[in-house]
Amino acid sequence: MPKKRLMSGMRPTGKLHIGHYLGALGNWKKLQDEYDCFYSIVDWHALTTGYRQTEEIPDNIREMLLDWLSCGINPDKSTIYVQSHIPQIAELHLLLSMIVPTAWLERVPTYKDQLQELLKQRMAQKVHIPDKEGSDSTLIDQADFLNKSGEYIQQHSLREEAAKRSEMEYLATYGFLGYPLLQTADILAVKGEVVPVGQDQLPHLELAREIVRRFHFIFKKNLFPEPESLLSEAPFVPGIDGRKMSKSYSNGIFISDPPEEIQKKVKQTITDPQKIHKGDPGRPEICNIFFYHRFFSPEPLVSETEKNCKNGSLGCVECKKNLSNSLISKLAPIREARETLSKDPNRITKILKDGAEKARITAQKTLTEAKRSMRLLPL
Ligand code: SF4
Repeated sequence: MPKKRLMSGMRPTGKLHIGHYLGALGNWKKLQDEYDCFYSIVDWHALTTGYRQTEEIPDNIREMLLDWLSCGINPDKSTIYVQSHIPQIAELHLLLSMIVPTAWLERVPTYKDQLQELLKQRMAQKVHIPDKEGSDSTLIDQADFLNKSGEYIQQHSLREEAAKRSEMEYLATYGFLGYPLLQTADILAVKGEVVPVGQDQLPHLELAREIVRRFHFIFKKNLFPEPESLLSEAPFVPGIDGRKMSKSYSNGIFISDPPEEIQKKVKQTITDPQKIHKGDPGRPEICNIFFYHRFFSPEPLVSETEKNCKNGSLGCVECKKNLSNSLISKLAPIREARETLSKDPNRITKILKDGAEKARITAQKTLTEAKRSMRLLPL
């Protein structure tokens, strides 16, 4: 029996961290044996919020691909490609955009939430305001800006409003509104039947299913499978500062970090604040170091750490050293595979070329069928 087709993608954000390793990548690796997997580096999606910073995209694609391959995403089992190498996806996206009411996109719950969240993040980082004296602009922290004199605040509250409006214009683009539709085109172009998603992505998949039904209803032809969700909750992986591990918070331990970097980051990691000295009983259940131990250390080290942290006989310095050793040895084969691959740029180019050829053939077939259904090509 042929395997079901699974489609998934990742934005090229550069080197991946251990949160990706424990979440998506580990899952993708397992799924390769059960499904006919199409894994896409979705660079167009990177433009939806980052269209002003495109200079990093080529390097980010390469770095991410190296992480995928060294973590076991296998081009002999899966089709690996860059989204923008498949122009058929863009054409299908255009065709689908003709039949999708804008209200469907506006009501996707993540649209407004993400817009507000992105706006909050950007406004919290920096406010772009003119100098008091001159017309030159200065970038200052919002906190600084709020500490200035009352008059200054009053003047600048108007400018903050203007900055907010301009940030909103920067973020609320046509591409950002349409990105769930582009996701739909990604899936439908290769006739994906199964899509691994987290709970927060379910509305996007439901939208894809609605679009399929609408296409079939309008053009009286059942062309696409209605993609099913494969619910795969990524664990919440804390960063070294306790917030969610994320590139934008600079709190990640990267899959490709060398041993000395891992040791440095583990030393900086926040532990149970109530455990100050060796001898103090600790709470492993709230400690970031213990979280990593659970995934990266072997037994019996995990259970010993839990017991000895609670009874106070283990100090955080020693516990962190143990974790560094576990992380370094667990990531060593991945790092070595990555180093070997990075010295072979022709192999990387070939993997992407072969993947794109396969994905293009599949997507072209789908596109031709869609255009025939829409009478854009003769039947
Ligand atoms: S001993 Fe280990 S688990 Fe316990 S608080 Fe310190 S670092 Fe965390």
